[in-house]
Amino acid sequence: MKTKAMVLERFNAPLVMRELEIPALDDSAVLVRIDAAGVCGSDVHMWKGEDERTPLPIVLGHEGVGTVVDVKGKKAYVTGEPLKIGDRILWNRGVSCNRCYYCSVLNQPWLCPHRKVYGINRPLSEPPYLNGCYAEHLVLAASTDIFNVGLEMDSAVLVSVSCSGATVAHAFDEHPFPYGSTVLIQGPGPLGVYAVAFARHLGAGEIIVTGGSEHRLRLCKQFGATAVLNRLTTTVEERREVILSRTGGRGVDVAVEATGDPSAVKEGLQLVRLGGAYLSIGFSQPPGACTVDFYQEVVRKNVKIQGVWVSGTRHTFLALHLVEKHRDLFSTMITHRFGLDEANEALAAMGSREALKAVLMPQAALS
Ligand SMILES: [Zn+2]
Ligand SMILES: [Zn+2]
Repeated sequence: MKTKAMVLERFNAPLVMRELEIPALDDSAVLVRIDAAGVCGSDVHMWKGEDERTPLPIVLGHEGVGTVVDVKGKKAYVTGEPLKIGDRILWNRGVSCNRCYYCSVLNQPWLCPHRKVYGINRPLSEPPYLNGCYAEHLVLAASTDIFNVGLEMDSAVLVSVSCSGATVAHAFDEHPFPYGSTVLIQGPGPLGVYAVAFARHLGAGEIIVTGGSEHRLRLCKQFGATAVLNRLTTTVEERREVILSRTGGRGVDVAVEATGDPSAVKEGLQLVRLGGAYLSIGFSQPPGACTVDFYQEVVRKNVKIQGVWVSGTRHTFLALHLVEKHRDLFSTMITHRFGLDEANEALAAMGSREALKAVLMPQAALS
């Protein structure tokens, strides 16, 4: 049996549709028909060769929702029930080794040096070859943590759970904040939208979002932002004045960087109150150094800085719960849908920021 995938063969060149053989499954491996594949901002960086983890050739796509077509032997969900053919599933995109110091001693599998990620660091040459979601089919290794998501929900709405959603869940897991806290979110992209939704869910009193797109800022308001500031029509000083005036002159309790832009770090740290926290989730590739006045903005203020690198199964679970609970709201995040053969157009729509979230629907062209 054969399947199709869009393959990145050369950086900055269009992905190419290739026909691939579906391999025999190893024990407890799962053959998945991809129903929806999220096109992530980090896919655009990978396509341009800006992410140092990217091997070539590769099938991109680390955000997937699909239907179980085949399973070799037995495989159970993280919740314990057996996985069955016909189930709709999503999974933790990262597979860690469960044996190293980070996995077994620190219990932080997202830091595992052996972590393999579908669509990110698993080349087309690596068995079982179907390692990315820009495809009609994907093979999940036995050690993948899988969730049954049921058949009612729109697959496209669920795809970002395992990426942006889980990353934001990870951030607030690293730094839980008390009920009523004021949270600043820099950047109204998918990460920022999830950050608004989580902050609201966790009981933030004020949620302030800064960003450069009026449309995205409006969306953040629908998700629960109490104030939005357009950085294209305000100066750094004006934003600072507004935020200080809303926080008794102190600054915010927690700021979340969701931009991947070093200049945001400098501004954001200046807006955190004494003893507050700065969570950085937006950098998916190295953008270069950022300069901060470490004594004034960090030490003197007793600020906690928390870098957040990817996520684990627990975070995927938390994000899935959030999206299931607010499915209508999250459906407004999906701005573009494409067929598998339109993956290049989808990457362009994400790269130009025309799309907030683009999703490939590989089965659309088949039916
Ligand atoms: Zn992603
Ligand atoms: Zn490990």
